[in-house]
Amino acid sequence: MTIGILGGGQLGYMLALAGYPLNFHFRFLDPSPQAPVGRIAPRVTAEYTDFEALEKFASGLALVTYEFENVPAEAVRFLQKRLPVYPSPQALETAQDRRSEKKLFQKLGIPTTEFLAVTGPDELDQAVRELGLPAIVKTSRFGYDGKGQWLLRTHEDLTRLAQEIPATPLVVEKFVHFSRELSILAVRARNGKTAFYPLVENRHREGILRFSLAPAPRTAAALQPEAEQAALRVLEALDYVGVLAIELFECEGRLLANEMAPRVHNSGHWSIEGAVTSQFENHLRAVAGLPLGDTSTMGHSAMLNLIGELPDSSELLAVPDAHLHIYGKALRPGRKVGHVTLRADSAEHLATRLGQLPRFFHRPEFCLNPNLAQSAKSL
Ligand code: AMP
Repeated sequence: MTIGILGGGQLGYMLALAGYPLNFHFRFLDPSPQAPVGRIAPRVTAEYTDFEALEKFASGLALVTYEFENVPAEAVRFLQKRLPVYPSPQALETAQDRRSEKKLFQKLGIPTTEFLAVTGPDELDQAVRELGLPAIVKTSRFGYDGKGQWLLRTHEDLTRLAQEIPATPLVVEKFVHFSRELSILAVRARNGKTAFYPLVENRHREGILRFSLAPAPRTAAALQPEAEQAALRVLEALDYVGVLAIELFECEGRLLANEMAPRVHNSGHWSIEGAVTSQFENHLRAVAGLPLGDTSTMGHSAMLNLIGELPDSSELLAVPDAHLHIYGKALRPGRKVGHVTLRADSAEHLATRLGQLPRFFHRPEFCLNPNLAQSAKSL
């Protein structure tokens, strides 16, 4: 079976690596001739809205899925007339727009951050007065890794940022003083069966995910079912097929949904080595109509994102149960170019292993500094 994937970045790359042992073949479509999947799979280099290229791309495929959520909905709808597309275009469109995403959360009774949707910067002043400060302004569409977001601490910030905030629909959110960020990854098969990974703790810097711990340490027993219930409602409301990620804030012991991604997710990379079935394999099983795999963890994992630069492989791989993934992208500041998963049988061993990582990883975002005792405690 050949599966078509829209988007040829690292998520597509890892999907293909998970799919080859199951005898799947892949064909990718991505506008960039440098897309990482070029190393391992046939690729059509074309704009997503090049319908002639889409027609060629679709020929002979069993189904199409995507690894990039900003694929234009019209491309996905065009393909859906020719072959099955999972997750559905409806799921994609809902997740592409923060307004519809948040409205869906509200409709399903899933607590979310307090927000107001505005049609452009002219309405910001009024919205900020209603919501209060501090607040975060986000473009409704096409934001990622903290891009398209502005923190407003004072009314003067609004004047200062007036030139920067684009004339486009926006969402203004009340700033949440969360205790930590979590995410839940869920998967739904074509026959409606579902499975859930354990809550993961995520640490961001400059809007980019840097570090994940799976399972999330010190998690109150009630949070996992609460997160699963929320994810289940979304999966069922959208008749969803595939992996769905929901990013959450933990706030005074409750969960607030921040946003969702209709695809495999960076906070699930640990599952390649740290779960019985990885998120990538489970996404493929779901879209291909196969039974879902076991989502249980195997020990404790930490995932460290490599942003813009790579460590020395031999130093890193000297650490027991350290796993290196390099995506084959050009190194540029702020760009996700690889990740490391560190696995151990217990949280204590994981803390020890984190302390054994080479100097490259001794950065605040990886919680290894100022001292290991602190990082061990945080596990
Ligand atoms: P997002 O693109 O919505 O995932 O936002 C990127 C990051 O900004 C999040 O992971 C949080 O660290 C932070 N952030 C987003 N929205 C809020 C909020 N309402 N209050 C506090 N921090 C936020």
